[in-house]
Amino acid sequence: MGAETEADRRTSELSREELVRYSRHILLPQIGEGGQQALKRARVLLVGAGGLGSPSALYLAAAGVGNIGLVDFDTVDLSNLQRQILHGSAAIGSSKLDSARDRLRDVNPNVHIEPYPTRLSAENALDIARDYDLIVDGTDNFPTRYLINDTSVLLGIPNVHGSVYRFEGQASVFGAAGGPCYRCLFREPPPPHLVPSCAEGGVLGVVPGLIGTIQATEAIKIITGIGETLAGKLLVIDALAMSFRTIVIRRDPECPACGTREIRELIDYEDFCNGGRVPPPAAGEVREIEPSQLAERIARGDELEIIDVREPYEWQIGHIPGARLVPLARIPQEIQGLDKKRTIILYCKVGARSMHAARQLANAGASDVRNLSGGIIRWIDDVDPGMTRY
Ligand SMILES: [Zn+2]
Repeated sequence: MGAETEADRRTSELSREELVRYSRHILLPQIGEGGQQALKRARVLLVGAGGLGSPSALYLAAAGVGNIGLVDFDTVDLSNLQRQILHGSAAIGSSKLDSARDRLRDVNPNVHIEPYPTRLSAENALDIARDYDLIVDGTDNFPTRYLINDTSVLLGIPNVHGSVYRFEGQASVFGAAGGPCYRCLFREPPPPHLVPSCAEGGVLGVVPGLIGTIQATEAIKIITGIGETLAGKLLVIDALAMSFRTIVIRRDPECPACGTREIRELIDYEDFCNGGRVPPPAAGEVREIEPSQLAERIARGDELEIIDVREPYEWQIGHIPGARLVPLARIPQEIQGLDKKRTIILYCKVGARSMHAARQLANAGASDVRNLSGGIIRWIDDVDPGMTRY
């Protein structure tokens, strides 16, 4: 996006139809006619016309965002309709882009929809995204999430992030000026076998509805310059408890994308997320410890090394007394410095990531490694119900 020209200003003038259509926006002093014109000029790239992309696209089009780029290569499937509200039963079998374009045109014929019938990749992402003011990430897999993050950082445009799983969702704004990026929070992807997708794990249909709507809200705030965005914050929603928590997240000066800037071009993200960085898990050599047993051993004053392998934001929500934080991705570097004769207890949220770390330690020769059964969630249930669940 270059500087605004006279021609831009002229073309963003609102017609009488638009003044009526957007009157509830224009009545808001924070938006007014100027804000509505900014929306009309705006260019938003939405990656994914699925669960998150559906409410985002509908609200962005209804709000009068003038140019919406849509990237998707999929066709509408019956199992999509429980949450992907852009698409209806009549569209089953047709392309999501065609279905989305028809629906969005009906919502607001003033909006220009630019379809990209392709999978976003390291080869095409910079070319597609460079003409846009911001990216809304409506994807559901780690390779594309890192690809979008790095594209956003390299181009210097914000990336409105959303993710959902079962009854939970998260949203943030990454890559905004001064704010952290996705890699500041998650340096490396989790091992692929520890990542269940919504297809495997399920998702309550309204949860992507909530998160996608929040993404559209953030996009509109960024475009119109109103309010305070989720840059530097991670919103965590639990639909079962109906709790909304905001966790402060910080820029990591060592972040290879936005900190040291050692990532100068896009990489192979499939490879990055499936890479053989960690030894394959071997079965059977790691013993578990029950939360109540661990609590007894801590109370007894046993010499224990308790390692929390979660991410820093999870540690901030709460952790076991006496533990120290070593996120899973940093376990390989940590191994050399560990006293392998000590009893080492590992834990994470529910026990899967820590089992992976425990096997790495066992493979490296640690003699007494225990995985905390059920992770901190069972610790909360069995030992310390006062701690915050998430
Ligand atoms: Zn970063």
